Amino acid sequence: MAQVPSDPVTQAVSMWSNTLALLKRNSSLTSRDKGWLEGVVPEAIFGTTIVLCVTNTATQQALQNELNEPLLKALRISAGQDMFPAFKIVPSPDNRTAETAKETKAHQGGNDASARPQNPPDRARAASRATHDQVQGSRTQTPVKSLQGSLPIPSSIPEVAIPEQPPLADDQVFPVDQHRASLDPQTHLNKNATFDTFVPGDSNRFARTVALAVAEGSGRDFNPLCIYGGSGLGKTHLLNAIGNYALVKDDSLKVRYVTSEEFTNEFIEALQTPNQSQGQIADFNRRYREVDVLLIDDIQFLGGKEATLEQFFHTFNSLYQANKRIVIASDVAPKNLKGFEARLISRFESGLTVDVKPPDLETRIAILRMMASMNGTNIPNNALDLIAERFTENIRELEGALTRVTAVASLSNQPVTRALAEQTLQDFFTSDVEVKPTDIIGQVAKYFHLTFDDLVGRARTKNVALARQVAMYLAREMTSMSLVDIGEVFGGRDHTTVMHAYTRISNEMQEKQEIYNYVMELTVRLKQHPQE
Ligand code: ADP
Ligand code: MG
Repeated sequence: MAQVPSDPVTQAVSMWSNTLALLKRNSSLTSRDKGWLEGVVPEAIFGTTIVLCVTNTATQQALQNELNEPLLKALRISAGQDMFPAFKIVPSPDNRTAETAKETKAHQGGNDASARPQNPPDRARAASRATHDQVQGSRTQTPVKSLQGSLPIPSSIPEVAIPEQPPLADDQVFPVDQHRASLDPQTHLNKNATFDTFVPGDSNRFARTVALAVAEGSGRDFNPLCIYGGSGLGKTHLLNAIGNYALVKDDSLKVRYVTSEEFTNEFIEALQTPNQSQGQIADFNRRYREVDVLLIDDIQFLGGKEATLEQFFHTFNSLYQANKRIVIASDVAPKNLKGFEARLISRFESGLTVDVKPPDLETRIAILRMMASMNGTNIPNNALDLIAERFTENIRELEGALTRVTAVASLSNQPVTRALAEQTLQDFFTSDVEVKPTDIIGQVAKYFHLTFDDLVGRARTKNVALARQVAMYLAREMTSMSLVDIGEVFGGRDHTTVMHAYTRISNEMQEKQEIYNYVMELTVRLKQHPQE
């Protein structure tokens, strides 16, 4: 059977390959610096931790000290988020057999006293193992067992090919969402997102109740059910919970979770298959029309895609008429969906529309407690309170902050305390920092693997033009500068050029998930680290 592309080992190899390519091209590193990288072999990724094998403590020290900053930056760029390296000392090939045997035993034996940390390298290994356990325990990660079987024995020489350029296409700069939960191949449901793991609060209680009714089959009047709200507030979780619960009630049901992007891609694929369009389209229709519960996520991305919308309209109608359940998630209320025909919007509104809002403090604390206990981590309430106070608008960010704090504690072999949480999160968010347009240009350039001068210069290649427009959009959004002043910063461009860039990116964010992701990720980065 084909391997799941996102397994921890493949992810690590691919991410390290990109990271290495970036580091090799970093002109501020000397060739001696770069020499340290030669002995590094990626082993696996667990959450936000990448385990890197090095042959000796000197390499580890160099990577943790003088190379620390460029390494973290390159990892962040490759991963599209903060990543933390955990170093594992793998001795020279001669000693490796004995060492590997010990390692394997330690992985398998768990409580074997000989595997306890005794010296710094062992501690590093134990720390990385602790992180495996803790992160693997998280409900969205690969289970421990399947992982252990697939860990390769690292060699002391890097096996990773070093490409001349990062292997990223011009218009597809990052693989987004690398840490997606493993999905059921048939229903495409994330089995971990259930009602049990969905903490109710004032902000989502109504949505949860109605979702449960639909899942149970009692909420027939709520068809379709539209769930809308901002990013990271639990819409996708609820869609999955509905599907999972419906299957618990009746495992003969055909449930299908699909994002609007996947729906579009499947449709386009069906259309493009040469000489058999009819057959493929019929197949596509059959597949969707025989579904009992259709869960369609991020519907806003269908806006303006006329052919796909037309197809969706027919799918919708036939399911609706057959009394099949349809649940739709969107980032805006149906009436505010852009690029949708009125007839479709009125269909959406004919059922029930509910929203999810940012959770209040108590709910955020309850969510964090649930997440910590599911991960099996012991975190004092005052540290959880601190995280809950800092992250107010987005549950995904809340979860990310918790993971980050527990990873840092685990890697440094310390218990999580409020002080440690405070310290860890200090550089993670800076709420009221003024973002300067030059910081925006610098960050955007880095994100797209370009230079500051590329963005303010005259080049018009596709990649540069896109990055420049994204930077102009962000300058307009995140600073109080006028269009004229922004144009000035961007190499003396006219204000109409800035306006055009702004409009274009605003529109494209509605249509292309990729662009939406760029803007969102860059916004978060700029808020967290404005000056990089
Ligand atoms: P959205 O689809 O609205 O952007 P998600 O459903 O992906 O948001 O939620 C983001 C993260 O927060 C997911 O990991 C999800 O499991 C978690 N989450 C959201 N709401 C809750 C909740 N009420 N209780 C527990 N976890 C939640
Ligand atoms: Mg979602």
